[in-house]
Amino acid sequence: MAKKQFKAESKRLLEMMINSIYTQREIFLRELISNSSDAIDKIYYKALSDDNLVFNKEDYYVKVTADKDKRTLTLSDTGIGMTKEELENNLGVIAKSGSLAFKKENEAKDGHNIIGQFGVGFYSAFMVADKVTVTSKALGSDEAFKWESAGADGYTIAAAEKDSVGTEIVLTIKDNTEDDNYDEFLEQYRLKAIIKKYSDFIRYPIKMDFKGQRPKEDGENEFEEYEEEQTVNSMVPIWRKNKSELTDEDYHNFYMEKRYGFDKPLKHVHISADGAVVYNAILFIPENTPFDYYTKEYEKGLELYSNGVLIMNKCADLLPDYFSFVKGMVDSEDLSLNISRELLQHDRQLKLIAKNIKSKIKSQLQSLLKDERESYEKFYQSFGRQLKYGVYSDYGANKDVLQDLLLFYSSKEKKLVSLDEYVSRMPEDQKYIYYASGESIERIEKLPQTEIVLDKGYEILYFTDDIDEFAVKMIQSYKEKEFKSVSSGDLGIEADENDKDEQEQDANKELFEAMKELLGGKVKDVKASKRLKTHPVCLSTEGDVTIEMEKVLNAMPNSQEVKADKVLEINVNHDVYQSLKNAHGSDQEKLALYTNLLYSQALLIEGLPLQDPVAFTNDVCKIMA
Ligand code: ADP
Repeated sequence: MAKKQFKAESKRLLEMMINSIYTQREIFLRELISNSSDAIDKIYYKALSDDNLVFNKEDYYVKVTADKDKRTLTLSDTGIGMTKEELENNLGVIAKSGSLAFKKENEAKDGHNIIGQFGVGFYSAFMVADKVTVTSKALGSDEAFKWESAGADGYTIAAAEKDSVGTEIVLTIKDNTEDDNYDEFLEQYRLKAIIKKYSDFIRYPIKMDFKGQRPKEDGENEFEEYEEEQTVNSMVPIWRKNKSELTDEDYHNFYMEKRYGFDKPLKHVHISADGAVVYNAILFIPENTPFDYYTKEYEKGLELYSNGVLIMNKCADLLPDYFSFVKGMVDSEDLSLNISRELLQHDRQLKLIAKNIKSKIKSQLQSLLKDERESYEKFYQSFGRQLKYGVYSDYGANKDVLQDLLLFYSSKEKKLVSLDEYVSRMPEDQKYIYYASGESIERIEKLPQTEIVLDKGYEILYFTDDIDEFAVKMIQSYKEKEFKSVSSGDLGIEADENDKDEQEQDANKELFEAMKELLGGKVKDVKASKRLKTHPVCLSTEGDVTIEMEKVLNAMPNSQEVKADKVLEINVNHDVYQSLKNAHGSDQEKLALYTNLLYSQALLIEGLPLQDPVAFTNDVCKIMA
């Protein structure tokens, strides 16, 4: 029989196909199954307009059989089949898609479940097979034909025997090489897993025979082998089902089945959009942080399906970084896929979907915050840090999306509160949103700087995450109220009339100057404090860099040293102040001792390290002796 040649371009294309279009070999099975599904769909659409054709759903399926001895993998379907011409045209001409033509012809009818469009998927079989044999009998024809090819070489077509309408494809699987294992494509369980992964939601049954052992009915302790046909795919994707038919448990099972996580998701969102872009999506907000979440290894993304066929495991473009914790899937028939059905870049539809999803997640979180506070707080424990990073990154570009979702611990409520809650109960004379930073709530509660603010009856937000101050620096102001650290120079609190600090500041200018000198550049200034009530001393800062920021920035690897402009504040109503005044002028050594001690104390209160702890303890002993 004369061998026909592929056209030259086709030959090159085939080589390219086999070697480079697909990154994973296993997808050949997805491509062949999608073709079979298309072939069955074609009968289905024909039956819609042809009264002589009845479509009995039970009669339509794809069967996958592996034979290890013969090294063959067979896919047979009961689809529309191909005539001799069609075999020639569709399989002999690469990049010709009979399915796309069918779709175009049937545009008026509802033909959009058809998957094929590029006319190349079939050839992916050559990634795993040395030889491919296609035997097909077309609907309405009583002859069958066999197309056979061993790759770029060309193909033959000959008459063949086949009883029923449909197509049977036999792949002769390649032998293993040193580097590549092809045996896996002859293992029933491996094949089943591949089918589940890519083709679980094909609308027709994909059947396989499975061998098992069972006890013989009469014989004691005797087993017999048996073979059973199973349908491997679930067929109806949960996202195409009606929301009202689904329970929380159904969604949870789907979450587990898909291995999105091992926890019970806090919330799911089921979207069926048919506006500017048509898609279905099921999104989950997990309860727990995945163990690798805050590491570089964690990969964000949603599963992406086109018409029920998995295209991408983790489509990162569907989620902004600040919502990277969201799990789930999107299915759309509107995507313009590229030839390998893998890479989708700069797709307009995809962008629209991503935008849509972003706002759905936001409103879901907002309603969780509003209506299910406890769940929201659980979520926030797991992922709040990510939201705060989101506010900070990209120069604050997303702060408007995110600021309403933030929570901070409140001095007043002793629990997490939102910025809106804080601002809505601010007393009229309060100018700023106050915050205090530290390692833990317990430590912040003891900070001397908080005294005056709390005394005024103002609420303070306690910042314990490294990112907190940086995030609010980005927000700048919320509902026109600026953020203010309780350690910052000007607190915006009116002094009491009989406050001594202003007068003392002037009267003892020399004392403060002397102390500043003694500290030798460690502080920018020494001042009479306006904020201290009972504590003798504290540090405050001038300018943008706070002490917490100094700590965080200096802890970063390869950071340049950052210094906050520190001010040592002395409580002029405290007894130690009197001692300082007495020492000043009379005993310079004592003044130095007191000054150093007070400075060290202020550092300790802030959780800053002492440069010379031994000198400090010696100083303490000196005043005890
Ligand atoms: P695509 O599926 O993107 O159109 P393929 O290279 O996979 O491209 O297939 C080429 C064409 O061959 C299909 O469009 C279809 O017309 C035909 N074809 C492939 N497999 C089958 C099958 N199992 N039954 C009927 N026709 C098929």
